[in-house]
Amino acid sequence: MKQDIKSLRPEELKRQLAEMGEKSFRAKQIFVWLHRGATSFDQMTDLSTALRARLDERYYITAPAVERRQESREDGTIKYLWRLRDGNCVETVLMRYHHGNTVCISSEVGCRMGCAFCASTLGGLVRRLEPSELLDQVLFTQLDSGLPVSNIVLMGIGEPLDNFDNVMTFLDLVNHPDGMNIGMRHISLSTCGLVDKIDKLADLRLQLTLSVSLHAPDDETRNQIMPVNRSCGVERLLAACRAYFETTGRRISFEYAMIDGVNDSDAAARLLASRLAGTGSHVNLIPLNHVEESPLKPSSRARVRRFQEILESQGITATVRRTLGSDIDASCGQLRRKAMQGEQAE
Ligand code: SAH
Repeated sequence: MKQDIKSLRPEELKRQLAEMGEKSFRAKQIFVWLHRGATSFDQMTDLSTALRARLDERYYITAPAVERRQESREDGTIKYLWRLRDGNCVETVLMRYHHGNTVCISSEVGCRMGCAFCASTLGGLVRRLEPSELLDQVLFTQLDSGLPVSNIVLMGIGEPLDNFDNVMTFLDLVNHPDGMNIGMRHISLSTCGLVDKIDKLADLRLQLTLSVSLHAPDDETRNQIMPVNRSCGVERLLAACRAYFETTGRRISFEYAMIDGVNDSDAAARLLASRLAGTGSHVNLIPLNHVEESPLKPSSRARVRRFQEILESQGITATVRRTLGSDIDASCGQLRRKAMQGEQAE
């Protein structure tokens, strides 16, 4: 059985090469090739042909194929559907902002969190992505589009903290000076609120930005739309968020998708403001993106504005998130099951 070489941390690659009787500087040469997008050992022209052949016997190099590429006419957002080695597909979205190009990557094939408003969870979890497959989404989006990537958000399909170890290895790889060298402060990770994993992440003291998908300030509402809340309620979640801030010094931002008649009342805004008071946290209001399979509808623009005013009047900064790529179904929550199952499902 061949091994996935790009999922190895540099220390591990070095160790395995030493076992093969190779000098340690070879590990760095190979790492650099992989992180520039080499797809075969034959491209690694500064290695002997004998070593290239030995590597090829032990390892494989992942390289997703572009199954589909859609570009928004409105804002230049590009959505990729990648076909992975085992035939599964995942989506990646490249957004072009003034401050740089941002890729939104998927962390799993499908998702088991079951949020009522999200298209990505409709078919459940198929499997978690390997570190190489997380990295490839950044690397091959940059290579294919010709646009340099400066920021990463883990906000695509899947729950990144439900794939904790692989996501942590990916962060090490993408952050590495011999690789893509993307700084932790340019990386955001979004979670539906897996409390024990938030605690574990805090202990690592990374400088990344943590976003928590809150979407409701009370257990009754949150239990309805986010099953994850049933095992661990809002109070415990917000306590973990405060502890995270105390340990890392990094403020958390909260995502709040506004759903008509569900979580958008004046009372909900006031309760949210009181629960977040004194945390210095920021709230991103996102008008819900309509998902075909769901009866939930977005709040009106006037309602979103009113909700924002209440938060701000109580000292909580809140912005209304601009939607990019809606003409290609690339907005939050719209990355679709049919895409993951490939063309057959359409
Ligand atoms: N599992 C992670 C990351 C993926 S979802 C998480 O839950 O945070 C990225 C964001 O899109 C989350 O805030 C999610 O709640 C939100 N989202 C999902 N479906 C949506 C929809 N239909 N409209 C608006 N936002 C949605």
